[in-house]
Amino acid sequence: MKKIAVFTSGGDSPGMNACIRAVVRTAIYHNLEVVGIMHGYEGMIRNEFIPLGSKSVANIIQRGGTVLKTARSKKFLTIEGRQKAVENLTKHEIEGIVAIGGDGTFRGALELSKMCAVPIVCCPGTIDNDLVGTDFTIGYDTAINTVVEAVDKIRDTAESHDRLFFVEVMGRDAGLIALRSGIGVGAECILMPETKTDIEDLIKRLESGRKSKSSKIIIVAEGDEAGGAFKIAEQVKKRLPDYDTRVTILGHIQRGGNPSAMDRVNSSRIGFSAVEALMAGKRTVMIGIINKAISYTPLENAVKHTQNLDPDLMRMLDILSL
Ligand code: ATP
Repeated sequence: MKKIAVFTSGGDSPGMNACIRAVVRTAIYHNLEVVGIMHGYEGMIRNEFIPLGSKSVANIIQRGGTVLKTARSKKFLTIEGRQKAVENLTKHEIEGIVAIGGDGTFRGALELSKMCAVPIVCCPGTIDNDLVGTDFTIGYDTAINTVVEAVDKIRDTAESHDRLFFVEVMGRDAGLIALRSGIGVGAECILMPETKTDIEDLIKRLESGRKSKSSKIIIVAEGDEAGGAFKIAEQVKKRLPDYDTRVTILGHIQRGGNPSAMDRVNSSRIGFSAVEALMAGKRTVMIGIINKAISYTPLENAVKHTQNLDPDLMRMLDILSL
């Protein structure tokens, strides 16, 4: 193997840059040439290949987002689009690929591997932590820290005005951001897509909760089946008009920002191991970290299953909240 490519795809996540840096520097250490593909699969189709050197990844470990840019590519969903991508990979004599992204990116990698012999390994770059095969995905730790910091601020106002706040956090299909950040802020309740949200039960909990507690924070994952924070708050407000109820949608602040120390270290380990995995002949696997050790999960498994909510955390949440 003489030349490898690296790209980021799907939603950006803090730590992607640390991962890119690790891929580039590990490749150079092993005398591999390394190119970056800008804008993910879209750039692979548009032939946006750029040479990367040790210096081109200097001073990026602390930066959120991705210096290689990212995109969601409709063209790559078509055979014609993927054929064009394969042509460009061949033209640039790419012999190994490191893809950094979420489950959609992995699905794309699986489709690509059916049309092209170049080995691909993937790094879990998503704030959602919804992939099996790693304890934490790249960006998750930073995202939950961002939520915790924001909700702490909201708590000051909630406490001062005796308010009930519904705070909506990211997580279209998974409540993992909601769960950990909710525990971290001492939320009174956490509503997630994985658990059935019963408005009657929520109202009962709010009524029977500690009366002495002047502020109440309910964390709502955006994908909760009962609707978003606004819809749920509206229903609760009708039934509990005495509560001074407010809604905050945290939105995109959760994706950005400087990666936490944990994300920087994990991303570096994952990027480093991705290159060494390619050199060892591994292909179509996701590199993760389980119980502190590097793990290799076949992409088919990584995309098929999502992480379940930890039952120990759920039990603790019930006891500690309200
Ligand atoms: P995030 O978790 O942050 O959303 P992601 O990697 O899951 O990241 P997606 O937009 O789902 O983000 O996927 C990234 C890109 O992967 C898509 O824009 C598309 O180009 C490609 N892709 C996704 N699914 C497939 C598929 N089944 N076949 C081919 N390409 C795919």
